[in-house]
Amino acid sequence: MSVDFKLASLDDLRQALDHKQVSATELAQTALQEAQRLQDYNIFLDINESATLAQAQAADELISKGQQGRLTGIPIAHKDVFVTQQWRTTAASKMLETYQSPFDASVVESLKQAGMVTIGKVNCDEFAMGSGNQNSAFGACRNPWDKDAVPGGSSGGSAAAVAAHIVPFSTGTDTGGSVRQPASMCGISGIKPTYGTVSRFGMIAYGSSLDQAGIMGRRAADLSDILDVMSHFDERDSTSLQRCGAVANQSGRVRQAFEHAQQQMQAQGDKPLKGLRIGVPKEWFNPGLSAEVATAIEQAISQFQALGAERVDISLPKNHLAIPAYYVIAPAEASSNLARYDGVRYGHRSQHYKTLEEMTARSRHEAFGPEVQRRIMIGAYVLSQGYYDAYYLQAQRVRRMIAEEFKQTFTQHCDVIMGPVAPEVAPNIGANQQDITHDWLADIYTLSLNLAGLPGMSIPCGFGGPQQKRPIGLQIIGNYFTEGQLLAIADRFQQHSDWHLRSAEV
Ligand code: GLN
Repeated sequence: MSVDFKLASLDDLRQALDHKQVSATELAQTALQEAQRLQDYNIFLDINESATLAQAQAADELISKGQQGRLTGIPIAHKDVFVTQQWRTTAASKMLETYQSPFDASVVESLKQAGMVTIGKVNCDEFAMGSGNQNSAFGACRNPWDKDAVPGGSSGGSAAAVAAHIVPFSTGTDTGGSVRQPASMCGISGIKPTYGTVSRFGMIAYGSSLDQAGIMGRRAADLSDILDVMSHFDERDSTSLQRCGAVANQSGRVRQAFEHAQQQMQAQGDKPLKGLRIGVPKEWFNPGLSAEVATAIEQAISQFQALGAERVDISLPKNHLAIPAYYVIAPAEASSNLARYDGVRYGHRSQHYKTLEEMTARSRHEAFGPEVQRRIMIGAYVLSQGYYDAYYLQAQRVRRMIAEEFKQTFTQHCDVIMGPVAPEVAPNIGANQQDITHDWLADIYTLSLNLAGLPGMSIPCGFGGPQQKRPIGLQIIGNYFTEGQLLAIADRFQQHSDWHLRSAEV
């Protein structure tokens, strides 16, 4: 290969493939080699070289016949909570260590149909529970910017695979921040769309009313093409939306909104973002936020202002209630979703039991990690008779109040909200292990969106930590169904900055 594809955009890759400067097979082989070379980072949980190369060959055949689409032959890695027929699906749990799905998740299927080539399945927190990818039964994943740091979680392997240049794109899931947080800590772009726009069929359930698939890559503009393919109605998911406002939820929706927003911006000359009101919640800039993150966020917002946007100081007084509400609702749903792993139907079965009850109890005890067991116990407790009203029902009320607060804010004050993704840069692997609530509290800026079902993204905007090596992300939150607009706004920032083009040396 004569061209260096490390920082290539989707357009660059498309052109190189179409002009036969590189083949899909060569791209896939390079990705597989890099995955192998960077094993120390513990990014991949399963590789199936022949399945990858067969997909790449099929892509090359389409290209040679001139029948390619925009994504044909482009490599992608999938978070190991999307079930796949040709790769093991473990959800980073011993419970599913040997699980092989008989079908592909809807997201995997859509991207495969669009011609993308799966490089493998990537590490994450067990059943997506965590914020640092340290809760994986197969070991922590490392951050390509700094091997001592976590990559963020729970979709840590997804973000690390892109940051380490193994793949240009990866899927993730976001129940309370798991696309935005690792994207932020690995210096790449990631978006979690509006709840219900991407099918959850075949996505291993954690908190079903919160879970939503997302996509990561270097550039916001590129994500619009891929999210566009992922977003469509799917009757196999009971919460999949058929319409998004007046618009049908089908391929083309995100891309059209993105292009429309881009055209409007272009028409405004050197103030492309004129008319955009950016809400900045005053509660988010408190002593809990590290100074270096606050500075990077403020600088990024100033840059948006230089592009014509208006800054509006807003207040979200109920937002901090997201932590207690989420950490009641998510475990409640998890305890119900994970009840299916009983040693009978799926996964691990203990060898040591006398009764049926003992078999279930031992299987679950042996195969679930400590954080998963903790969440199941909390969930079972808050759903139990006598506590349901006090905890679960109350949390649902708070959830409604948080959604209402966002609704009022978007109706009255601003078009988007900007702020940090996490209070600090990526912590060291192993830090804060004694205090389990540290990670929970660090979710303060991300959880409320999932409770409300809103879309949000993270784009790189600076560095901090030891030797200024660890990336910082800016969070951009929009009203329902504004993924296309969010990506266009982020793209505009990226046209005037190069944070997304900084490269980790691995
Ligand atoms: N950190 C949150 C949790 O542990 C969110 C994880 C996620 O979005 N999957 O639940």
